[in-house]
Amino acid sequence: MSAKRDMVVIGLGPAGVAAALQAWRDGLDVLAIGDEPVGGLLPAAHRLDNLPGHPTGISGRALARRLAAQVRAAGVAVERDLATAVERAGEAGFRVVTGGGRVHLARTVCIAPGTSPVPLPRGLVPDGVHVLRDVRGLERVPGSNVLVMGGGDAAIDSALSVADACMRPVVVARHATRAAARLLAEAAARGIHVRIGDADRRRDATTAIACIGREPRLELLHDLLPGGAPRDVATEVPGLFVAGDAIRGRDRFVATAMGDGQRAAVLARAYIEGSGST
Ligand SMILES: Cc1cc2nc3c(=O)[nH]c(=O)nc-3n(C[C@H](O)[C@H](O)[C@H](O)COP(=O)(O)OP(=O)(O)OC[C@H]3O[C@@H](n4cnc5c(N)ncnc54)[C@H](O)[C@@H]3O)c2cc1C
Repeated sequence: MSAKRDMVVIGLGPAGVAAALQAWRDGLDVLAIGDEPVGGLLPAAHRLDNLPGHPTGISGRALARRLAAQVRAAGVAVERDLATAVERAGEAGFRVVTGGGRVHLARTVCIAPGTSPVPLPRGLVPDGVHVLRDVRGLERVPGSNVLVMGGGDAAIDSALSVADACMRPVVVARHATRAAARLLAEAAARGIHVRIGDADRRRDATTAIACIGREPRLELLHDLLPGGAPRDVATEVPGLFVAGDAIRGRDRFVATAMGDGQRAAVLARAYIEGSGST
């Protein structure tokens, strides 16, 4: 077991990175644990054009690389592992257990776990089609068809990533698309159109990407917050914070997640200073 940290951050997407960097800047002894590379879901995003400060937009991959470089430059301690439990450890802290068998003590914890994709219902894609959770796992086979299941922003954005990889996206939605007009126009300009219903589903695709929705990953919170999912960064448990997509309902954006992360770190510092936590 290691010495007690001021803060352990779980999840290294935009929310977790913002929490870790703010904690570092405020002089806290912070450890960030992530089961994926720094950036979290970002590399699944084709281009972010709603993030202030990037006048021509930025690809999710490029932003993830920048976040990783910033975390490295700051010297924030990072551990690549899955946090499997967060428990109260007496009055003044928490115990974080990882799948790799590590146990960390912390005065405060920020959980920023993001979301996981809603699985495709059985029968929605033809038998034998390999279903991916998002575009990150896409094997580049130029010229091949890829089914993109869903009609929202993520589906259209993923279809653009597929097209960038010189493959042919076939977007299939159950209902009329809810995607932003600008995204639809960009897709249409590249010959990508949304097909409604199953009738037009192409049979010659070997890969499908599930974009029918995502749900919060709240499993670490079940025992700590029996009252249910938190709705704000500060929770009913002193010293425990939650940030990012996991608490944002449908408002899942990078800037929102980063703001949550920063707020978690600021509240953590205030908690440590005010509680006399040892
Ligand atoms: C296709 C697509 C396009 C998008 N386009 C845009 C866009 O244009 N503009 C925009 O603002 N947003 C966009 N988004 C949304 C944006 O990616 C998210 O809002 C953002 O990544 C949320 O950050 P987060 O840190 O809350 O979660 P995530 O980015 O999901 O990161 C959470 C991380 O925590 C890890 N984790 C979870 N549980 C544990 C655990 N127990 N232990 C260790 N690690 C754990 C996860 O594996 C993940 O790496 C897009 C999303 C998708 C899917």
